Amino acid sequence: MSLLHIHDPTAAPPIGIDLGTTHSIVAWVTPTGAPVAIRDCDGQALVPSVVAYLDDGSVLVGERAAALAVERPQDTIVSVKRLMGRGADDPEVRRAGTYRLAATEGPVVRLRVAPDRVVTPVEVSAEILRALRQRAVEELGAIGPAVVTVPAYFDEAQRQATKDAARLAGLDLLRLLHEPTAAALAYGLQHRVEGRFVVYDLGGGTFDVTVLELDDGIFTVRATGGDTHLGGDDMDRILGERLRALEPRLASDEPAVCRARLVAARRIKHALSDATEVQADIELPGGHRCTVHVRRDAFEADVEPLVARTLEATRRALSDAGLGPADIDGVILVGGATRTPIVRARVEALFGRPALADIDPDLVVAMGAAVQADLLAGGAREREDVLLLDVLPLSLGIETMGGLVERILPRNTTIPAAASQLFTTYADNQTGFELHVVQGERERAADCRSLARFTLRGIPPMPAGMARLEVRFEVDADGLLHVTAREQRTGIEQRVEVSPSYGLAEEEIERMLLDAYEHAERDVQVRRLEERRVEAARLLAAAGKALADDPGLLEPGEAELIEAAMTQLRQASEGNDPEAIARAMARLDEVSRPFATRRMDARIAAALRGRDVAAVERETASARGLEGHAAEGDGSEALLTGEQVRP
Ligand code: ADP
Ligand code: MG
Repeated sequence: MSLLHIHDPTAAPPIGIDLGTTHSIVAWVTPTGAPVAIRDCDGQALVPSVVAYLDDGSVLVGERAAALAVERPQDTIVSVKRLMGRGADDPEVRRAGTYRLAATEGPVVRLRVAPDRVVTPVEVSAEILRALRQRAVEELGAIGPAVVTVPAYFDEAQRQATKDAARLAGLDLLRLLHEPTAAALAYGLQHRVEGRFVVYDLGGGTFDVTVLELDDGIFTVRATGGDTHLGGDDMDRILGERLRALEPRLASDEPAVCRARLVAARRIKHALSDATEVQADIELPGGHRCTVHVRRDAFEADVEPLVARTLEATRRALSDAGLGPADIDGVILVGGATRTPIVRARVEALFGRPALADIDPDLVVAMGAAVQADLLAGGAREREDVLLLDVLPLSLGIETMGGLVERILPRNTTIPAAASQLFTTYADNQTGFELHVVQGERERAADCRSLARFTLRGIPPMPAGMARLEVRFEVDADGLLHVTAREQRTGIEQRVEVSPSYGLAEEEIERMLLDAYEHAERDVQVRRLEERRVEAARLLAAAGKALADDPGLLEPGEAELIEAAMTQLRQASEGNDPEAIARAMARLDEVSRPFATRRMDARIAAALRGRDVAAVERETASARGLEGHAAEGDGSEALLTGEQVRP
């Protein structure tokens, strides 16, 4: 790539941004083709992801904001990434932070900060992005478009929030990119023909593990896993407990002592990444000092359980991808906490191979984002075709009759993706379709996450089953979902974009998946039962209507026979045995078939007498409702509830 890589010197260089929970970084690709992080005048590439709001209305970002975190906890927002795309009632929002939540209208989280301001997580993130943008402009003069990274498990709402923040910060966003995919790009893995890679990312407060597959220059996320509350900060706390035991003056629970202990712990932890023992001089509140001595092996014994948890999650992600450690062609270490030697040693032991770790684990994601931005914005420049594909973390579908979910795009579908499905009406003269878009793996809509509801109106009254509603789901490269509903006979159409009304906790995805596994068997039964009930109700309605419409076509005793079969079916529908419902439907179908045939004949005879064709079609269709249910099992149609007009 480098040889062919000719920069147009007049074009402003594109940039890549790692918008991290603890730190954020901006990088670019130099004219020689090398990705590099942009540093401040002190040589610092890492910008703490901290925003402080001051009484005079000014805003600080980064190191200067972080310095205020203790003094002004409520006006200094840390780890805002955890709040992105989330609702005020989200457990993650209630769990995290020292901030003040403002009373909210609507589902978006708002924070109250000085001086009497209310800000959203999108606005706070935009401040961080703006600072990074500023840093890049100072270094490069002008900047081109940007690629911003997000975790592989981010859902639509979280991705949309990140896009909004980028726009608010004045960035020309090329696209969002998965953090693990960015790391793989920084290592140039796209140049290989194929392979399976694991990205192990242990940051300050989060652990993410991703299985990537490269095939024909295309990266696909095969599985993701991790722990959203596990990281280097936990090591600080664990080491802090050791310091407490070592030095009585560090044992107090006074806030100032706690802070001193944690600061010391982090410093010692970092030092232990290079040295096997550390003698640390610690400053205590009130100008006192003390000295502690910590050996690496003692620290390693303390954090061993934490490391074991990350390996556990790694094995789980591998098995989700249907792979074992031996199937992996490369392991990338990402995140500052992977500098801890025991972490690296354990990961390498698990995979039985050295890890890719020679790019700075703090910077590798931003550098990969820069590579991607450079490739995408390359324009006239020579570039390779690296297509980057990600997958949906959870299935997307819509609710159908009986509260069941019809999955349109299954989980782990590679994005961008599109799929459509046909639906029809459940009741006669339904003039609207109610569409309920849901996300999740469960069979019932009520057990899934609701993403959007909308109604397609204005459909002329038709008998049940006549309307042809095509519902199309498109997920774009940024993971945003566009839903189009179109009634094919009338061409009436409506589009919605799933907006980030509220977010989904990362644990939530995990919980939803576990839930689905746990309930899989029961869900299948529930689904079968509900489907049968819906079919039964439809058949009963059609039979009742036929009896009322054409009493003249009944043979003596036939009505009683049909009614008895209907009663049986009604009773079966109230029970919980799907097979019993199926048997009762077959019985009703059987006893009513001669009557249905006579009705059909009568309609055709009427048509031949020159009656209005549309009316005939309509009536024949409703006659078919009684006769034709056995042929309906083609699975391509599901029924939707909706608005109905009385004829
Ligand atoms: P995030 O992706 O969450 O923003 P980072 O990748 O910046 O987080 O990782 C931050 C964590 O890395 C912190 O817990 C920090 O203490 C830890 N860390 C940084 N340098 C070292 C080091 N030399 N040894 C051990 N841990 C380190
Ligand atoms: Mg990170």
